[in-house]
Amino acid sequence: MKTLPDAGFPGGNIAVESVEGNAIRVKPDLRDTEGVWFYWCFRMQAAADSVYRFVFDRRVIGVRGPGVSLDGGMTWRWLGADAVDGNTFAYTFPGENRDVRFSFGMPYQQSDLERFMAGLRNDERVAAETLCSSRKGRAVERVRFGRLDGGAAFRALLTCRHHACEMMANYALEGIMIETLSDSEDGRWLQRHVEFAAVPFVDKDGVEDGDQGKNRRPHDHGQDYGLDTVYPEPAALRVWTEGWLDGRPAVALDLHCPGPRGNFHESVLFPCRVRSPENWARMAPFFAALEKGQSGVLAYRRSDGEDFFTWDGKPYRPPERLRGFSPWAETLPGMRFAAPLEIPYANANGREVNQETARAFGRDLARALCRSLSAD
Ligand SMILES: [Zn+2]
Repeated sequence: MKTLPDAGFPGGNIAVESVEGNAIRVKPDLRDTEGVWFYWCFRMQAAADSVYRFVFDRRVIGVRGPGVSLDGGMTWRWLGADAVDGNTFAYTFPGENRDVRFSFGMPYQQSDLERFMAGLRNDERVAAETLCSSRKGRAVERVRFGRLDGGAAFRALLTCRHHACEMMANYALEGIMIETLSDSEDGRWLQRHVEFAAVPFVDKDGVEDGDQGKNRRPHDHGQDYGLDTVYPEPAALRVWTEGWLDGRPAVALDLHCPGPRGNFHESVLFPCRVRSPENWARMAPFFAALEKGQSGVLAYRRSDGEDFFTWDGKPYRPPERLRGFSPWAETLPGMRFAAPLEIPYANANGREVNQETARAFGRDLARALCRSLSAD
């Protein structure tokens, strides 16, 4: 029985500091992160009905408590804020011996993508491909879906995990695929007019190794689109995308998750108005379609993005030799708009973010793409 927190599985991340009775001091394993970040994920077994307290070194428990999984990381629920006291949460282990996983969020790994893709194996509107190999030799997945015969009027590029820990984005990506391939009116329009390409894990090694990924040294994957490039995935994505688009009409969404809590970290946000007002203006029909057509699972408010300035409140200054994904994608011929999208980990304007609601919000995103592109 593993009676200590253990991170020896894909996505695992924890550093155990000390054990005093049923109180275990732990902290996120920062590895090559510049500064601090808040991702952690561990599993543990303990005697039936025993109560443990997990004491973190700082505030790294989300606003609805930790994510908990009793089935090896397939399904997750929030333990709830009531289980949390400052930097500590308490948990009563179930009445049978089994692994319980805990995490800051609701981890989404290669195995989750494989399970989702298995359901689409014989669907000719879906092509499972490989973008490149990661530094550690892992295959980096690329999934194309929608209209794949080359005749689509629009192309849409979707990316997740430029920052390895930001897993809630992947549930939204599943939702975008589900809606696009569905028999709804919007789905059928998307199948006729849009060829999508998605890279579900840009920092593939970071995702599987359980890294923070955000603010990785010397810079993270999200900033690898400028002159100083170091990672194989953004390099491969740049080359492939330029050939794939070839100047045709396109949009790009780069799905992220924000910080753990607080202003702008608990709302669905496109944080790019200040950096590129022209791009922002071109997004207006999409924002309007998303706000009007949303199902209400997560609350999207266009005004949140309009109110957002920069994360630190200081004027935006483009870095000299680094460039983000969206600033790069914006420059591609034919690109209507390219934007980062922040999907909060647990709370979106009061609505609960979880596997199911993030997926449903992905469907909202696909419908908004349909309704804004089809109005052209
Ligand atoms: Zn991010």
